[in-house]
Amino acid sequence: MATVLVTGGNGYIGSHTVISLSENGYDVIIADNLINSKMEVQNRLEKITGKRFKFYKADCCDEAAMRRIFEENSIDSVIHFAGLKAVGESVKIPLDYYQNNIVSMITVARLMKEFDVRKLVFSSSATVYGMSEDVPFTEESPLGVCTNPYGWTKWMLEQVLKDFAKANPEMKICLLRYFNPVGAHESGLIGEDPRGIPNNLFPYISKVAGGTLDCLTVFGDDYDTPDGTCLRDYIHVVDLADGHVKAIDYLDKTDDCVSVFNIGTGKGTSVKEAVAAFEKACGHEIKHVFGPRRPGDIAVCYASTDKAYRLLGFKARYNIDDMCTSCWKWQSMNPEGLSD
Ligand code: NAD
Ligand code: UDP
Repeated sequence: MATVLVTGGNGYIGSHTVISLSENGYDVIIADNLINSKMEVQNRLEKITGKRFKFYKADCCDEAAMRRIFEENSIDSVIHFAGLKAVGESVKIPLDYYQNNIVSMITVARLMKEFDVRKLVFSSSATVYGMSEDVPFTEESPLGVCTNPYGWTKWMLEQVLKDFAKANPEMKICLLRYFNPVGAHESGLIGEDPRGIPNNLFPYISKVAGGTLDCLTVFGDDYDTPDGTCLRDYIHVVDLADGHVKAIDYLDKTDDCVSVFNIGTGKGTSVKEAVAAFEKACGHEIKHVFGPRRPGDIAVCYASTDKAYRLLGFKARYNIDDMCTSCWKWQSMNPEGLSD
């Protein structure tokens, strides 16, 4: 059984991917420093899969701690989710973001080279396309100018990994550019569990639907879109998790050192449509008001999904209603999130 080291595997996307890997016959080892997730996730994963995964509380920037993991296990591939991801926070504490996101990836890449682990999947983001609105974004679309340090860490790490692969052609690296991951596992046992007041649309709507927050502010209704609100390519986190399994499988077949894929649905959903879909899922109105545009937001962002379909065989299975239903189930079953 091939063993995958999942860094950041206790987090939102990582935990869902651990389930998909396990369901597809992979053995999983998780490394996470718990900076943005709770240990209770491991109990939930055990409930869902019937397995207790090997877990290391380790900071990926800590070379000694990470070396121990590579020494103690026979690792076949790595999926690197570990990183800080809050856009607004990254503007306030940029050095922490550059330090954590870049050093963690470089540390893991160095150890992969030292231990001859050749397959890597890296969590990139549609944010690397910058402020362009030339949609749909294809993998060949030019990389843009990012609007915040978080985005730049993804942009820079794509370059770091391309250079790493060029110098080490035995490497097989897959850069996955996620669009907007939302939703939760069908069990309602794991889902997105942000600390404090959420910044992203779905966690915010969920809290308004659940009564923890009073009212959603829709950022701008004067965009050049059909209903005036921004369009995003929301993708169910379970689909996204499946995309990682397909990427790992693909790395066994490809001769390319670096492969880049968008992971989205190819469909834009407006903020108004997302609110309406959530209202349908939870069965009551979501209080919302219209406010000014949020700085840095683009009007439209959605993926071309052709390449992922052609080469990975990846196609999203879930629609916006499924995303809202699963999100609401998670919110209803865990109104306060998970305990530490
Ligand atoms: P998350 O915060 O839920 O998960 C990240 C996990 O990594 C957390 O459990 C955190 O404790 C851990 N972590 C952070 N720094 C670490 C370090 N130095 N060492 C060890 N563990 C560390 O975030 P997520 O939404 O699951 O995102 C996973 C990855 O996908 C991130 O790299 C993120 O930037 C990227 N991504 C996320 C989105 C999104 O909208 N959620 C979109 C595009 C890309
Ligand atoms: N949004 C909103 N109100 C909120 C949070 C987000 O209207 O409280 C909008 C935001 O302007 C964007 C969309 O919802 O058009 C998705 O935002 P999110 O932060 O979830 O993802 P982004 O695409 O910005 O990374």
